[in-house]
Amino acid sequence: MTARPIALVTGGSRGIGRATSLMLAERGYDLCINYLSNQQQAIEVQAQVLAFGVRCMLYQADVADEAGVVKMFRAMDKELGPVTALVNNAALMMPQLNVEQVSSARLLKMFAVNVGGSFICAREAVLRMAFKHGGAGGSIVNVSSLAALTGSPNEYLDYAASKGAIDTFTKGLAKEVSREGVRVNAVRPGLIYTDMHSDGGEPDRVNRVKEGLPMGRGGDPSEVAEAICWLLSERASFSTGDSINVSGGLN
Ligand code: NAP
Repeated sequence: MTARPIALVTGGSRGIGRATSLMLAERGYDLCINYLSNQQQAIEVQAQVLAFGVRCMLYQADVADEAGVVKMFRAMDKELGPVTALVNNAALMMPQLNVEQVSSARLLKMFAVNVGGSFICAREAVLRMAFKHGGAGGSIVNVSSLAALTGSPNEYLDYAASKGAIDTFTKGLAKEVSREGVRVNAVRPGLIYTDMHSDGGEPDRVNRVKEGLPMGRGGDPSEVAEAICWLLSERASFSTGDSINVSGGLN
């Protein structure tokens, strides 16, 4: 029997991470679903994942906490085996502002979660995937945002800048590990119906702006999950350092 791929989805309890976890389970991946605080929703996703007949563990950790991330990967090693697929999905959005209102404390938190979390998770994944470390290769998908291209003026400058860093990280890491059997790609979602907009202070934001979008609608998390799952899979075997916009024509 061929061993199943083993995926970690950070922020898998809700939104795009939840949709990705369910799609990966349907496609035969064993899963570790990471979450920050929403245990009940994580348990519900785990139950749906287990119904596909794959293995699934939950792990509470703040991706900005390096020691916690290291423990999470070690727990995966024990329970599922070394990770072969990583989805760096967890991220944070804070209330809308413009540059006059920004503070160092806010920037540190935003970049610690959105950028630092993805770096440290990628480090732990490469330590397990790379040929030079005895790994069998693997695939990483970073969830960026179309905001990395627009800059989100008057709304989310800091969030957009953190996603710009993710785009740069994706390109550089892909080149660094491409001869080590590890592919690294990104998706840039546009406006997707998830709870994240509540954290930004405007739960109905997608409906407010959707008429201005080329397709005239927001996206469903499953439409982003499709692109993530493709990039993660062997079907995308010649793609690395690439990004796919999933944004209904906004670019
Ligand atoms: P969401 O619905 O707000 O879900 C966020 C997920 O991340 C939850 O599972 C949450 O866990 C987890 N999380 C948050 N902070 C964390 C931390 N410090 N450590 C570990 N987990 C953490 O978000 P979403 O809209 O699905 O966003 C997913 C990704 O897509 C993000 O990278 C986001 O930037 C990107 N994106 C979203 C949109 C959009 O329109 N929604 C557009 C572009 C890009 P709990 O449930 O425990 O809180």
